[in-house]
Amino acid sequence: MTSERIPWDQYFMAQSVLLSLRSTCTRLEVGATVVRDKRIIAGGYNGSVSGDVHCIDDGCYVVDGHCVRTIHAEMNAILQCAKFGIPTEGAEIYVTHFPCLQCTKMILQAGIKKIHYLKDYRNDEYAMALIKQVGATVDQVTLSKKYFAELQLGEEEIASVEEAPQTDQ
Ligand SMILES: [Zn+2]
Ligand SMILES: [Zn+2]
Repeated sequence: MTSERIPWDQYFMAQSVLLSLRSTCTRLEVGATVVRDKRIIAGGYNGSVSGDVHCIDDGCYVVDGHCVRTIHAEMNAILQCAKFGIPTEGAEIYVTHFPCLQCTKMILQAGIKKIHYLKDYRNDEYAMALIKQVGATVDQVTLSKKYFAELQLGEEEIASVEEAPQTDQ
């Protein structure tokens, strides 16, 4: 079978989709991957502060219609860079949902110049204007099935994963 090599955009966005499956808040499952020079330097999903309870166990902590317990995926990914001292200047970010205004401001202030997102989600007008204002770019990525057909997840790969012991939370 001849196969087409997966393009970087598809690969990095798929990584964010995988990360979103780790989300601990049921209201929205978001994943974010920070990329620099075609290498993944950090990743995050929306979840609680380490050490706090999870929304999936204790329910969301809702104030004014928003769950305030979780840190957004984009913020978690960028904080991972802060924690380990990884520069984000000139990096790109792949997010499963259009970032909220707060995350957009943080992304831009961290020096990230390219924002790629999968799904429209309450796309904020001011966020969009800011992206243009600072000379950054935003584009929507559409995942194409043809690049993932070879994975055949659900057959031998999944069977071996299910047998593996669960080691962490
Ligand atoms: Zn929640
Ligand atoms: Zn956000």
